[in-house]
Amino acid sequence: MSADWQQFKVLVVDDDAFQRSIVSKLLKQLGITEIADAEDGKAAEAELAKGYDLLLLDLNMPGMDGIEFLNVLSAHSSSPSLIFFSGEDGRILEVAEELARDLSISVIGSIAKPVSKEKIQRLLEQTAPQMTQTTARLTQSELTEDEVRAGISGGAITMFYQPKVDAQTLALRGVESLLRWQTPEGALIGPGAVIPVAERTDLIQALTLGIFTVSMTQLGNWLKQGFELSMSCNFSIADLVQPEIVEMLDGVLAASGVSPDKVTLEVTESQLPEDVSKVLSALTRLRLRGYEISIDDFGTGFSSMEQLRRFPFTELKIDRAFVNGAEQKPSARAILESSVDLARRLNIRSVAEGIETEADLNLCRTLGVDVAQGYYVSRPLSSNALEDWAKSWQL
Ligand SMILES: [Mg+2]
Repeated sequence: MSADWQQFKVLVVDDDAFQRSIVSKLLKQLGITEIADAEDGKAAEAELAKGYDLLLLDLNMPGMDGIEFLNVLSAHSSSPSLIFFSGEDGRILEVAEELARDLSISVIGSIAKPVSKEKIQRLLEQTAPQMTQTTARLTQSELTEDEVRAGISGGAITMFYQPKVDAQTLALRGVESLLRWQTPEGALIGPGAVIPVAERTDLIQALTLGIFTVSMTQLGNWLKQGFELSMSCNFSIADLVQPEIVEMLDGVLAASGVSPDKVTLEVTESQLPEDVSKVLSALTRLRLRGYEISIDDFGTGFSSMEQLRRFPFTELKIDRAFVNGAEQKPSARAILESSVDLARRLNIRSVAEGIETEADLNLCRTLGVDVAQGYYVSRPLSSNALEDWAKSWQL
């Protein structure tokens, strides 16, 4: 069976002709047939118009180096995915990967020289899902305020559910509900095109209420059918400063017959405000009622230890940036490890998101992460698909 990546059109960029020929030969051995090469960033730039799927890029080149070339690449309309290779130490490769991601370039990973067939193959085998993921994200432009307003009352709010499993036993523990906005044309688009619009306008409360109602109605139905699980929902700080937020959530739970201890409210770390009193009082009231509270995207913001201590968090959700590929990235791994340790010391649950490979899962298990979430377990699923998934999981 031929893998998708064997159809890739690949460009190898390295100043060393011998390296280029070795890498090209390895790619051929892996069954890739369309391979070209370029000796530096300038030559590669001239090639880009031919439309490549994948670039293997050396970082250290005379003329235009690999980092400079990233700017060229990000400005270019066609955007191939990227694999870095370099003789530099791992930390440099890690920084380069992050730079590229900041420029919205799809990065598959890095290879430390010497390049081998196995190293390339391992990266390529993870490629296909990542590439489609990135494309989906890039093609979403924001909706207009009117579109969001019409959609909230017009049934655009659809929720998908991503499983969260016990990292040790792999038993299903719960799901995170994620917005999949249904356009009038029937396409499903992610929250990034909708939530920021609502947050900038007065629509966020109505959107949050709609999302929470759909999610809790589903959870209530599952619990009534004897399908035991909990559900995490994402909340924005803009929601939590609303004076009636606690009563609003209580009202939805009363209607759906769900008890608060089945519900985790995820609050993004980077949004935690300087003036915390309103948010702190809302979260504390919710915690008193039995809701679980999670600090989402942990590690990406600048929350102080003091905030962590004051907020009634019951869960620390470690951002994917420190989980996916952490085994190969010493600094990411260090942050993952300290976060798990911090959660343990605070006596709260640790959740790792962005688990995309077996290596990610194994590392999290070794470090003692409590709950695992990510494509390696399952992507977000429609409610029907989630039921099927749960039946076949661990049979
Ligand atoms: Mg979340």
